[in-house]
Amino acid sequence: MTMNSFQYVSYAQEVVFEPGALAQIGTIVERYGLQRLMLCTSRSQRAAGCVTLIETALGDRLAAVYDSVSPHVLDIQVEEAAALAEKSQIDGVIGLGGGSPIGMAKALAYRLGRQSADGTAPSVDGGRLIPVVAVPTTYAGSEMTAVFGITHTREDPPRKVTVKDPSIAPRLVIYDPELTLDLPPEMTASTGFNALAHCFEALYSVTRHPVSSSVAVTGVRHIVHALPHCYADGSDLDTRSEMLLGAHLAGLSLASAKMAMHHGLCHVLGGSAGVPHGIANAIMLPHVLRFNAPAAGELLLPAVEAMGITTGEHDAAAAVEDAARQLDELARQMNLPRRLRDAGVKERDLPNLARLGFENRTVHDNPRPVEDAAVIEQILREAW
Ligand code: NAD
Repeated sequence: MTMNSFQYVSYAQEVVFEPGALAQIGTIVERYGLQRLMLCTSRSQRAAGCVTLIETALGDRLAAVYDSVSPHVLDIQVEEAAALAEKSQIDGVIGLGGGSPIGMAKALAYRLGRQSADGTAPSVDGGRLIPVVAVPTTYAGSEMTAVFGITHTREDPPRKVTVKDPSIAPRLVIYDPELTLDLPPEMTASTGFNALAHCFEALYSVTRHPVSSSVAVTGVRHIVHALPHCYADGSDLDTRSEMLLGAHLAGLSLASAKMAMHHGLCHVLGGSAGVPHGIANAIMLPHVLRFNAPAAGELLLPAVEAMGITTGEHDAAAAVEDAARQLDELARQMNLPRRLRDAGVKERDLPNLARLGFENRTVHDNPRPVEDAAVIEQILREAW
């Protein structure tokens, strides 16, 4: 791909980024004419008082609340929440929290919309999907994308699959950095790594383009600068804002360029081995960067420089090795698990995880070709 020829898809989204913005959700959604919203969130948000804030701001327009979303969007929970959504005749869905509640909101919009097209549920929005409103409280980036993962719990082992549909891209995204002030250090660190990984994978994406690449490099710069401060002192609004800006840019790059093997392996580790998404990202990132360095070193150089590493004297692969080492050190400083065994993965499961990884379509979009599952097993073993 050259600079003088490129193609990408972007979504019609309104993004509001402001401390305290959540309290204005009533006036913001007013513009969309929504009257029966459903809120999907997790218990931590109720505890933090955000649910009460939304109840107050929306009043009667809040028709239903599903506040027990578990990580990784479980099929059984989607069925439960869909029943509530149908009963409540909702016309919009809010995902408040990390990637899981936002994924749940997308899953509901998708499911209700499909059903209305079949005529099995009331037609919503003239047959189009109901709008998704996303209010992120972590750095995972799902708020910007038209994708959700759903975990099929009836399979053994459970398997996470992704669904992509342009209509599920959140139409309104409210970034309120105040909501991240109480994000615990471990979640700050792990979801921050998730955001970093989106930027790196966007840079060597098979569908990269000048916009996604410049967004990704700026994302790396902000994240690398803000993340250690947010970990050390989560209460500083300025660094929290910078980190959330970095996460926004990471989410934007994730939304506009296809992800590669790192992303796919983290889905497998989450869906089939129960590793929290951000932890999987933090463990795997240096290993996958090293693997991809021979094929993607040059493409990664702007991000390596954005990390403050001088690349002049080095060849690209050596510079990526420096970056991988620095990322490993950053993860260590933030006390994140460094090996898959420390995240509950059993050595005997590695061959099966490698097989599932190889079946993941992102592997085919990896900049360095992956010939067989043995290659993935080797990477997993190094990370184990
Ligand atoms: P999560 O949504 O699974 O939440 C993890 C935990 O963090 C939960 O217990 C939650 O209650 C808690 N939490 C969230 N915000 C908090 C806050 N401000 N204060 C205190 N606790 C808080 O975590 P995640 O890492 O944000 O999301 C991971 C999921 O999102 C994975 O399933 C991943 O696949 C998916 N994801 C999807 C996309 C996409 O584009 N579709 C992008 C990134 C991640």
